[in-house]
Amino acid sequence: MPEGHSIHRLARQFTALFVDEELAVSSPQGRFAAGASRLHGHSLVSALAHGKQLFLRFDNDLVLRIHLGLYGAWTFGGDSTTFSGSIGAPRRTADTGQGAEAAQPPYAGPPEPVGAVRVRLVSRRGWADLRGPTACVVITPREEALALARLGPDPLQESADPVAFVTRLRSSATPIGVQLMNQAVIAGIGNVYRAEVLFLQGISPWRPGKAVPESEALAAWEDAVRLMQDGVREGRIITTTPSARDGLTAGTAPHYVYKRTGEPCRRCGTAIASTLLAARTVYWCPECQRR
Ligand SMILES: [Zn+2]
Repeated sequence: MPEGHSIHRLARQFTALFVDEELAVSSPQGRFAAGASRLHGHSLVSALAHGKQLFLRFDNDLVLRIHLGLYGAWTFGGDSTTFSGSIGAPRRTADTGQGAEAAQPPYAGPPEPVGAVRVRLVSRRGWADLRGPTACVVITPREEALALARLGPDPLQESADPVAFVTRLRSSATPIGVQLMNQAVIAGIGNVYRAEVLFLQGISPWRPGKAVPESEALAAWEDAVRLMQDGVREGRIITTTPSARDGLTAGTAPHYVYKRTGEPCRRCGTAIASTLLAARTVYWCPECQRR
């Protein structure tokens, strides 16, 4: 599932491509035809990412709320100023990998829709296709406010309140490895960031939230901010420092514990362990994360 950094990249992309542009909105697949007709011909005012949710605000006071879930992805294309490619679940499309540096023919509008395109947005300069989302609904600003109120603070927002995260985490005996996946506690963390943040802090995924000292909870938040900002910049999740990756062959996952079951810990050499926690596989070093 795309973690929060991907959704923030999407918000930037929508802002660059579509704000103040009158948009043709359609549902080539048909499943979102009614919703698309309510947005068609209107302009995008702003794009907000909060955790794993994307809110596209239109000038007729309606909001398109998107949750990509496990399988959703956006594909973009357009003129030479437009990013071309996909953000979200990996998929093959005609446009993926088309580099901006490659010579492009003049933009002559979007291609024929390929596959089940739930919604297509088209401006004068480019287009965006959404496939396979968990949620794609038109809501009101009041409904947007309610949806945001249900989400915890997002480490990628400058205005985010770390104290809200710390308070929520420490108010419950639920293991921190479960709480980090709860979007009401902290928004945007997924399975990769969960594993890597806990490793960096030397915290066991099973430690009850209320047993995490304030200072360690704040340090975990700061790690999440730093790692997720790196993710937005790089377009992928890299958690290790160059020295920790020393000697690794190209293509090795650039993580400390995520998807490294049985491999030696980069700090102590102990075999990395894994098991299910909160419905997803959690990875940890049994030596470095005893507490
Ligand atoms: Zn270790």
